[in-house]
Amino acid sequence: MCGIVGYAGYEPAAPFLLEGLQKLEYRGYDSAGIAVFSDKVRTMKSQGRLATLREKVDAAGGIPGSLGIGHTRWATHGAPNDINSHPHSSMSGRITVVHNGIIENYIPLKEELVSQGVVFRSETDTEVVAQLFDKLYDGDLVGTLIQVLGKIRGSYALGILCTDYPDTLLAVRKDSPMIIGLGEHENYIASDIPAVLDHTRNYYLLNDNEIAIIKADSVELLDMDRNPISRDVYVVDYDISAAEKGGYDYFMMKEIKEQPNALRTCIGSRIDGDDIRLDKIRLTEEQIKNIGRIHIVACGSAWHAGIVGKYVIEELTRIPVEVDLASEFRYRRPILRPNDLCITISQSGETADTLAALREAKANDVHVLSIVNAVGSSIARESDDVLYTMAGPEIAVATTKGYSTQLAVLYLIALKFGKIRQTISSKTEAKLRKALEALPEQIENMFADEEALKVLAKQHADKEHVFVIGRGIDYGASLESSLKLKEISYVHSEAYAAGELKHGTISLIEEGTLVVAVATQDQLYEKLVSNVKEVKARGAYVVAIVKEGCTDVEGIADQVFYIPDTDDIFTSTLTVIPMQLFAYYVAIERGCDVDKPRNLAKSVTVE
Ligand code: GLU
Repeated sequence: MCGIVGYAGYEPAAPFLLEGLQKLEYRGYDSAGIAVFSDKVRTMKSQGRLATLREKVDAAGGIPGSLGIGHTRWATHGAPNDINSHPHSSMSGRITVVHNGIIENYIPLKEELVSQGVVFRSETDTEVVAQLFDKLYDGDLVGTLIQVLGKIRGSYALGILCTDYPDTLLAVRKDSPMIIGLGEHENYIASDIPAVLDHTRNYYLLNDNEIAIIKADSVELLDMDRNPISRDVYVVDYDISAAEKGGYDYFMMKEIKEQPNALRTCIGSRIDGDDIRLDKIRLTEEQIKNIGRIHIVACGSAWHAGIVGKYVIEELTRIPVEVDLASEFRYRRPILRPNDLCITISQSGETADTLAALREAKANDVHVLSIVNAVGSSIARESDDVLYTMAGPEIAVATTKGYSTQLAVLYLIALKFGKIRQTISSKTEAKLRKALEALPEQIENMFADEEALKVLAKQHADKEHVFVIGRGIDYGASLESSLKLKEISYVHSEAYAAGELKHGTISLIEEGTLVVAVATQDQLYEKLVSNVKEVKARGAYVVAIVKEGCTDVEGIADQVFYIPDTDDIFTSTLTVIPMQLFAYYVAIERGCDVDKPRNLAKSVTVE
């Protein structure tokens, strides 16, 4: 999880490392540290915000040297404290390591090293790598690394310094992200492109089990048999300003407001006259006609997009769809048949559980189509087909445009498959295509409610519990709306299929409980209105989100927000907008760090 940066060049490394780590802050972390090599390796680290580390470095008058590694940690083994922060060095000080991921077999390895007299300083799994490396070290840096990799099990992106090699930075990855930035007389490593985008647009994307030997004037890639690997340079064409806040107080608000444009790109680039083009996916029309079952596998908000996707895909294609949490799917021996299709969804493309689920599907010979935002990410690379969401970098931990564009891709898949399978007529398909294209502008119109939502947030910021209820697709959308509140404002919020209320939850409704009722499905509207009456009768304060024209609800709910008219199957894209804004302003009222909620990380690269 979290971040690694590294520098090999002729300029001072420390300022570069601190700046790079700052760019990776969005990934979430609990401590940070850097190590720079000149005559010896000097390491500084500290628990908490990067600013604390920066103060330490400044107080010491900087750290000399032009070779270094830096790390932001999201603790998995050992408490987040100064000692457990990375980098970690071996007992002799010869080897220094930063690591993202988990060394699963660190306990037996540690026991063996301890029995040989090695003294450990930290509680981390990572320190085993530094100590083991030193123990096995025979003067051959790459050879020793290969030996170490043969002994450790788990997931890792590693940046390694060795005092015998004053000009060399070593990097390797397995199931954890790592890229190599190519500069002029300097080269870099990082977990993610924004960390070094100020310095270069040229990258090597490192694959699992590849080793990079990085010096100021060269980068060499090797496989595990030490064969050289030639790799095309990946050139990034987006601007650093796209990854910055653009005038808003928080990335989250910037990203909420970017949704119309993100959707225009995501949808617009795939509509070609009266046809939908799903990029260049390898899945053939014949295969699409023969799909037996679709398995949508994802985590968090991407899973919520999948739940809405189930309703939409089943409605338009009549293919049965199962939606699984990736962490469940990977361990429950799912029943997968050769003509099934697996759709994995992940913003970062590095979500560890989703990646493992993808591998499980592939091992069962099931075609995997992924919906991913980060180009070149692990999930994108390992899938049979990828449909990029094209949302641009998403920095706020709580997703907004990532989720909306995932939904849009699911809509496109449903329409395309429906047309191919002839489960929808050309006329219906054309009508839905038009409705899809109208969504970006409809979202823009909904931003007009921002002030009213801000006022509502002020009124309800002290609520301890919130319930979001809906039926059908509105239930799927409620899950995401509810999660937004939980994630950024720390308000306990639950989404309920409205019909389930009477089976338990209604006992929690008391005077003043906030209930958000989402009711956009024509066929279910009256039933939902009855549920609103039930909770009103028990004292709830009800905010309704309904389609334009459903004014009768004004007499029942305490406050009503309208979404522009669209087809029932696309309403989730619109109903989530007021809830994103509401959650944002509740978080502001409660003084929360909107972009970096406590305990959460953007890119969940550990299990
Ligand atoms: N497992 C390591 C630790 O707990 C690395 C965690 C991370 O990826 O930040 O120190």
